[in-house]
Amino acid sequence: SESDTTDAAGSAELRTPIVAVLGHVDHGKTSLLDEVRGSAVTAGEAGAITQHIGATAVPLSTISDIAGNLVDPADFDLPGLLFIDTPGHHSFSTLRSRGGALADIAILVVDVNDGFQPQTHEALDILKRTQTPFIVAANKIDTVPGWNPNPDTPVQATLEAQSDRAENRLNEQLYEIIGQLSEEGFSADMYWRVQNFRENIGVVPVSAETGEGIPDLLTVLMGLSQRYLKSEMSIDTSGPGVGTVLEVKDERGFGTTLDIVLYDGVLRDDDTVVVGGKNDPIVTDVRALLQPRPLAEIRTESQFEQVESVRAAAGIKIAAPDLDDAMAGAPVRVVRGRDLETVTAEVRAELADIEVVTEEQGVVVKADTLGSLEAIAAALEEAEIPIVRAEVGDVAPRDVAVASTAEEPKHAAVLAFNVDVLEDAVAEIERVAEVDLFEDDVIYQLVEEYEEHVAAIEDAQQEQILDKIQRPCRFRILQDHTFRQSNPAVVGVEVLSGTLKRNSRVVKWNGNEPERVGELKSLQDAGEDVDSARAGESVAASVDGPTVGRQIEEGDELWSELPEKHAKILEQELADEIPADELEALRMYLDKRRKRDPFWGK
Ligand code: GDP
Repeated sequence: SESDTTDAAGSAELRTPIVAVLGHVDHGKTSLLDEVRGSAVTAGEAGAITQHIGATAVPLSTISDIAGNLVDPADFDLPGLLFIDTPGHHSFSTLRSRGGALADIAILVVDVNDGFQPQTHEALDILKRTQTPFIVAANKIDTVPGWNPNPDTPVQATLEAQSDRAENRLNEQLYEIIGQLSEEGFSADMYWRVQNFRENIGVVPVSAETGEGIPDLLTVLMGLSQRYLKSEMSIDTSGPGVGTVLEVKDERGFGTTLDIVLYDGVLRDDDTVVVGGKNDPIVTDVRALLQPRPLAEIRTESQFEQVESVRAAAGIKIAAPDLDDAMAGAPVRVVRGRDLETVTAEVRAELADIEVVTEEQGVVVKADTLGSLEAIAAALEEAEIPIVRAEVGDVAPRDVAVASTAEEPKHAAVLAFNVDVLEDAVAEIERVAEVDLFEDDVIYQLVEEYEEHVAAIEDAQQEQILDKIQRPCRFRILQDHTFRQSNPAVVGVEVLSGTLKRNSRVVKWNGNEPERVGELKSLQDAGEDVDSARAGESVAASVDGPTVGRQIEEGDELWSELPEKHAKILEQELADEIPADELEALRMYLDKRRKRDPFWGK
């Protein structure tokens, strides 16, 4: 065929850089993407922007129309920009290629009023980890008090039309953001002062509401790409396509389909492809390549139209058999003209790159995509939390079953990131009470929630141990407070240090030898029975065994007896948990015992 002739010749071309939009919820990611699309329409180039599956392509000519004299198309040979439509870092961390980020460049959206928020920090972590170049869109400048809006104008022009007061307020907020970036280790400045966008982060003031600064944003993205990414944008336009799965989706009439971003080569509707699957790579034949149907033609029965081939960079839907086990974030490779084994091995190697280390014991982790699974695994590893099972997908009953087999209570947990919990899994969690479920869509919050849970379990365990253990206590019989001589002796006592508890054995020191004088049966404070008395408190103690005036006397210093094993646990494991006065009593007790036996309680 004709295209095969072209293939034989082979040809290199520059592809569109892939742009991702990240930032905290409500800071304006969606609005910004809408505004970019909207500006393209306003610029009279509606036909020129094309809606892909999961992405919008804005060609250079449209960017130049929007940017006015900021962009001269003659300065560029990259064809434009491809914006990924699903904003947020979840999709961003999904978007990977060969171990790096799939997005070539990113926009970090920060609300000028709100500054840095949890997901802003998380997005920065991801950008750092993947070493993705990015710019900051300081959004919502139109909300600065006293702002005079100038729709769709570049930043400098609108700044000139502002009062000093409004401009100063904006500057304060922008410098706040620049300061926060610097705290995160990024040197940043207003974009017009940045010379090298790889070393310094450019901050672009924008409004997704009024379009102010959008020309600047597109100009900076285009310039940055042209200057620093051009060498990476060269693709073989006849080469076999390579991409990443954005989403695995059921589509009426097509069954399970894949939304992918193609970042290299060409994909055709008669290609065989290899896709990363839950168990093994999936080998399948493309049945159809689908693009959204232009709005004008939407009345036809399908919202999609079939295309024969697509060239990177593009978003496209693949309809093919056997896609049920495909995973979001997994690689897709076209086999065309190559050995199937080689391509399968490539896919396998890419998957192995992402694979998460699991241990014999640990928590169960479920995430929406391979990329986010990897990001969580990294966060858990840093927090020294082991993982027993890590998978892409919703929380299912067998995840709960795996968690319930944990040897330690703290590992009986399922951490779910941005996924649903299936109904029968909810029932299973209710049934096996020991399994705890944690859900969040911010990674470090998910990890923190789990860590708090572990801390609570450990506290409870220690409290239980403390409860069962004899506690050191030094107390004195008060003068003129003998209420009963014997059987049992009832005397007023003052606790000097430690905690006096019911049912403890009472000793009196004879030199360094503790002599048991009886058992403390009950304690009364102002006529009421109490279980214990703390240092500084005075209570009435009834002691079975001694007679006042014989084995014990008013003014005597007495101690609760510490079994050696308990003394050892207190000193070696619980020293940080018990109050200072109790620790002091423990030390005194140990000192005396160790004068006779240096290894006592060791
Ligand atoms: P996302 O969660 O980051 O995608 O944020 P959205 O795009 O949904 O925006 C959140 C809210 O902020 C919406 O109510 C938007 O209308 C509003 N918003 C976004 N950008 C701007 C802006 O530049 N100016 C003003 N005034 N409102 C904005």
